[in-house]
Amino acid sequence: MSTEVQISLRTIASINPAKGEILREFQCAGEAEVHAAVDRAYAAQSEWSQLGVRRRISILREFQRLLQEKKSDVARLITREAGKPYVEALLTEVMVVLDAARFLIENAYRLLRDEPVPHGNLAMKTKAGRIVREPHGVIGIISPWNYPFSIPATEAMSAMVAGNAVVLKPSEFTSLVALELEKLLHTAGTPKEIFQVIPGDGATGAALIDSGINKLIFTGSVATGKKIAQAAAGRLLPVVLELGGKDPMIVLDDADVEVASSGAIWGAFVNAGQACLSVERCYVHRSLYEPFVAVCARKAKQLRVGDGMNQETEIGPLIHERQLRNVEAHLEDAVSRGARVLAGGTRLRGLGPNFYAPTVLANVNHEMRIMREETFGPVLPIMAFDDDDEAVRLANDSEYGLAASVWTQDRTRGDALARRIHAGTVMVNDSVSCFGISEAPHGGVKASGIGRTHGRFGLEEMVRIKYVDSDRMPGVKKIWWYAYGAAFTRQMEGFLDLQFARGLRQRLRGLVRSAGVFRGKKL
Ligand code: NAD
Repeated sequence: MSTEVQISLRTIASINPAKGEILREFQCAGEAEVHAAVDRAYAAQSEWSQLGVRRRISILREFQRLLQEKKSDVARLITREAGKPYVEALLTEVMVVLDAARFLIENAYRLLRDEPVPHGNLAMKTKAGRIVREPHGVIGIISPWNYPFSIPATEAMSAMVAGNAVVLKPSEFTSLVALELEKLLHTAGTPKEIFQVIPGDGATGAALIDSGINKLIFTGSVATGKKIAQAAAGRLLPVVLELGGKDPMIVLDDADVEVASSGAIWGAFVNAGQACLSVERCYVHRSLYEPFVAVCARKAKQLRVGDGMNQETEIGPLIHERQLRNVEAHLEDAVSRGARVLAGGTRLRGLGPNFYAPTVLANVNHEMRIMREETFGPVLPIMAFDDDDEAVRLANDSEYGLAASVWTQDRTRGDALARRIHAGTVMVNDSVSCFGISEAPHGGVKASGIGRTHGRFGLEEMVRIKYVDSDRMPGVKKIWWYAYGAAFTRQMEGFLDLQFARGLRQRLRGLVRSAGVFRGKKL
């Protein structure tokens, strides 16, 4: 059988996590299909690039209009396939994408246009230089299930507005949402070859890395990110890696307990704790510790867990059984080492297959997995600290560095502390919502990743920087060309003095010594 007609025998299923029902099954795209998609993207990309930024922005504007019109359908589909409450699908997925489109519509032209590079060196004054931003060509995107719409859409929009074609390999758990994104983009006028979705599993993703794409934007776990970095290294494929987090929240002694506790439970439980930016560790000043944990436990017990389609629901199901087992294993380890469960701590089997009660833990420490590994579930572990230095040390005692938050009524103190925390983003008096600030760069340090998405820096990842320099005196030989010799050397010494000597007299002497350079004969 030739590779062209080989078909993949692996299948994946899209399942409603609240009910366990299969929504649709897909055959994974095999190597040949992945390569064919990338070839089609290549063939179409140069015309797309030549279309110009303004024309591509007008397609983006149409996409934004369509998405706004279809917002409820899109949000409902996200809830059915990923489980999150409908209103969260609207705010953290649809709104994030609408606003990211707004950012690009308003700024992409300015950010992508050529940039003059003035020359400071006297020897280079006859030249004019500029930075040119060129698309990479075909950008591969591999995305996770937890934000199945906003993650691939924000990345794809900036890739495409910059003139790239995109081939998206969505999570095997959320193919339907990715196909809906594809439909919207095509309806808005994006050529079919410029945005293509290839449903599949990890092997499909691996095939995409091997397919000859020019850059990869990967979002997912640290474990997969490391495999991808290794595969990419073999091809010297540039990658952006948006990986996991174990975000700390620091509640200082002057914080408002009522406000910060509400922030803690939202930050820990939004999307059932399955956000890369979830509050996964909470450190509270000892003077506030007992009241803080008590209020968090009371508020956690009030949260309504259920099917995200119900508008009263605040916490939906986890994505699948494996995720629940991970949460249970972290809980078991923490409790066996002395953690106190103040709320939750159990599955909610009566609601459906994948529900877990919002859980608040006290008496935790850094020996426990719950404070070291990404839990990715509705768990808020809270630990006491004695002073700001200890809080910073605890926050930084992690292999991760995605985001963090500091809670205080003194913004100056909060900002100062934010600078001491090793993370890609630090918010003062909020968490998680930075993902919805389209101007803000998103990305981590340490094991949380490499590179940035969103905003200006996210757009810069989608282009190759080319430097173009043009000499304004094409008929003149440059003074630094051959021939060398004693006279030329003296002139150049003088030239260095003219430019860089500290005293005026020495600089003037340098001017006199170097003046003869223009009379010298060049080969
Ligand atoms: P995952 O790593 O299991 O999968 C992510 C994607 O990689 C999926 O599409 C998967 O099919 C693909 N994949 C798996 N193996 C592959 C391989 N060998 N080669 C190529 N592709 C492969 O992650 P997940 O469970 O889908 O998502 C949850 C993780 O993502 C969490 O760790 C979370 O913190 C992280 N995440 C990070 C961000 C961020 O912006 N930093 C955002 C969302 C999620």
